[in-house]
Amino acid sequence: FFSSAPIRATLFPGDGIGPEIAESVKQIFKAADVPIEWEEHYVGTEIDPRTQSFLTWESLESVRKNQVGLKGPMATPIGKGHRSLNLTLRKELNLYANVRPCYSLPGYKTRYDNVNLITIRENTEGEYSGLEHQVVRGVVESLKIITRQASLRVAEYAFHYAKAHGRERVSAIHKANIMQKTDGLFLKCCREVAEKYPEIKYEEVVIDNCCMMLVKNPALFDVLVMPNLYGDIISDLCAGLVGGLGLTPSCNIGEGGIALAEAVHGSAPDIAGKNLANPTALLLSGVSMLRHLNLHDKADQIQNAILNTIAEGKYRTADLGGKAKTTEFTKAIIDHL
Ligand code: NAD
Repeated sequence: FFSSAPIRATLFPGDGIGPEIAESVKQIFKAADVPIEWEEHYVGTEIDPRTQSFLTWESLESVRKNQVGLKGPMATPIGKGHRSLNLTLRKELNLYANVRPCYSLPGYKTRYDNVNLITIRENTEGEYSGLEHQVVRGVVESLKIITRQASLRVAEYAFHYAKAHGRERVSAIHKANIMQKTDGLFLKCCREVAEKYPEIKYEEVVIDNCCMMLVKNPALFDVLVMPNLYGDIISDLCAGLVGGLGLTPSCNIGEGGIALAEAVHGSAPDIAGKNLANPTALLLSGVSMLRHLNLHDKADQIQNAILNTIAEGKYRTADLGGKAKTTEFTKAIIDHL
C-alpha cells in the first residue's frame, strides 16, 4: 500500500532574480506533475535574534522538518551585527558537502563538449574555519582545520554518491606533498573509505596537476572530492567549462540526510525584475533535488525538456546569446515536457 501524499519541500525564492526563476521552477514542476508541495519562506527584513540573521528560525525549522529544499540566490545584506545568510544555513543545518554536477549541454557550444563530472566539496572546515589572527604587527596567521570526522563524512558521501549514480571513479584532490598533516589526514580518510568500495576506482591527484588536466581534457575526471578551499575554486573552474553561472546547479548535503539544492549564481541585481534571468541553474538544482528524492523519472523528464529547449536554440535567454524572456523560455520548456 503506497501513500500518494505529496512530498513537502521548503522553497526559498530568495532576492533579486530569485522570485522570477523560482516562479519558473514552480510552473515547470507543476506542468510535469511532480508530487511536491512547496513551503515558501522569504528572507526577513529584520534580524531574528534566534538565528542572528535575516533568516527566521521558522524557515530553518521548515528545512529540518522537510529534510529537503530548494534555495534561490540571497543578496548579502550590508551592515554589522548579523550572520551571512549562506553561513547561517550552512552552520545551522550542518551542510557538510556541496555537490556540483557539471556536464556539457548538447547544442550549447563551449570549448568542450564531453564534460561529465561531479565535484564534491567539504563545506565546514579547512581554510574557511574563520580562525585568523595577528601574531605581531605585520604577521598574521590563518588556521586550516582538517578533522578526521569531517573528512570521513565527506569521503563517505562521495563514494556513496559514486555508487548510487553508477559512477566509476573517485579522485581525491589534495596538496599533501606540501600540507602533509592536513591534506595528509584528508587523504588517509579517503583511502579508508575507498577500501569499503572496491568496485569504485580510487585515485589521488595533486591540485595543480588537477587544474592543468581539467582545462586540457575534462573527460579525464568522474567524481572529485576535496577540502573546502580547493572545492570552492575547482567547482567554479568546472562551471566555466560548461558555460557559466546561468547553467550550473548545486546541492548541499547536511547531517541526517538533509538536502538543500541551490543555484550557484547570485541575485543578479543588474537584471532583476526585468524578466531576463535564465532559470536553468535553479531548475537543474531542482532536478538534483528530485534525484535525491529518487524521483528519477520526473528528474529525467524535466532535464530533457530543458536540454532540448536549449539545444533547439529557438528560445534562449540573453546570457546564452538569445532574445527570449524568462517567461518565454519557461513556456518553451513546458511545451517540451
Ligand atoms: P551574480 O551571480 O548575482 O551576477 C554576476 C553576473 O551574472 C551578473 O551580470 C548577472 O546578471 C549574471 N547572472 C547571474 N545569474 C544569472 C542568471 N540566472 N541569468 C542570467 N544572468 C545571470 O553575482 P554578484 O553580482 O557578484 O552578486 C549579487 C548579489 O548576490 C550579492 O549580494 C551577493 O552577495 C549575492 N550572492 C549570493 C549567492 C547565493 O545566494 N548563493 C551567491 C553569489 C552571490
